[in-house]
Amino acid sequence: MSISLISLLRRLACGLLLPLAFSVSALAQEARKPNVVLIATGGTIAGAGASSANIGVYQAAVVAVDKIMAAVPEIQAVANVKGEQIFQVGSHNVTNDRVLQLARRVTELLKSDEVDGIVITHGTDTLEETSYFLNLTVKSTKPVVMLGSMRPGTALSADGPLNLYNAVAVAASKEAAGKGTLVVMNDEIHSARDVTKTNATRVDTFKSPYGPLGLVIEGQARFYRAPIRLHTVQSEFDIDKIQTLPQVDIAYGYQSMNRAAYDALVASGAKGIIHAGVGGGSVPEYMVGPLNEIRGKGVFVVRATRTGSGVVIRNNSVKDDANDWLVVDDQNPQKARILMALALTKTRDTRELQKIFWKY
Ligand code: ASP
Repeated sequence: MSISLISLLRRLACGLLLPLAFSVSALAQEARKPNVVLIATGGTIAGAGASSANIGVYQAAVVAVDKIMAAVPEIQAVANVKGEQIFQVGSHNVTNDRVLQLARRVTELLKSDEVDGIVITHGTDTLEETSYFLNLTVKSTKPVVMLGSMRPGTALSADGPLNLYNAVAVAASKEAAGKGTLVVMNDEIHSARDVTKTNATRVDTFKSPYGPLGLVIEGQARFYRAPIRLHTVQSEFDIDKIQTLPQVDIAYGYQSMNRAAYDALVASGAKGIIHAGVGGGSVPEYMVGPLNEIRGKGVFVVRATRTGSGVVIRNNSVKDDANDWLVVDDQNPQKARILMALALTKTRDTRELQKIFWKY
């Protein structure tokens, strides 16, 4: 066979085999892509304004999940993403029942071998509460990643699309497994235990007292730390055994505060009251008697701080042991409410309840 005939045959083989090799590798890549379910619940990320200049004035929870997904086709390159709409509300309308409904659905989906991770779009106002609830109740090491946006999709410089892309990238990453529920906003990955909304309008509103766990850069999740408090598979809270959550409320401390709010909460059926006290969870001397009356009625008094961060120390300026009160450790009042409600499904013993605040 002449040399030119051999080289002709080689070229022909390359021409036939190379495209085949490419399509086989594309298929293999497709097969390797994780399957992620996007659960939409509403919020500003599903919001629309009258004009692109409307950044803060708009209607939340009006855009359906398929439109949210269609606006960011890039997510399908990272994972095979399927969407479902569980409800469509602003997160100020999220109740205990809705959070339980969401936790049950996430749990059900994650039991399937066909689902590798979950992404949840949610209003930012109470995202920290829903995510903490999932962190404490979803029994799976697979990634559960929540996100929202501060600007509606119709706004100039809307933040939702990149937050969604980043959240899918985190849910698709192996490193996100076993770290509890995560919140991805503004290029940062936060632990649901710690993250809180700190500003009413700014895009960089989500902060954690000890910093984010990591960052998302160019669609890559980069973790630098991991949570150590108990969550997900290590958690003792079992939503299969919970029909409704015990009523736990929050009352705010301030100069010249009075007992009226506490009495009203007890009358309305509170089983525990988080006292969002000044400084280190302080209680005015004239309020100790009224709070002990409340405790005498079987309602738990739980001291927290209204400062936004920091530890409430047991028996600091207040006799917690003698009063049979609790402290929240470093949980903010809204997260302490979630933990206390779950804790009350397990025990009504003050010491056991206090241990729960040290562990989670
Ligand atoms: N009110 C909205 C909500 O929480 C705000 C937001 O999503 O940013 O649903």
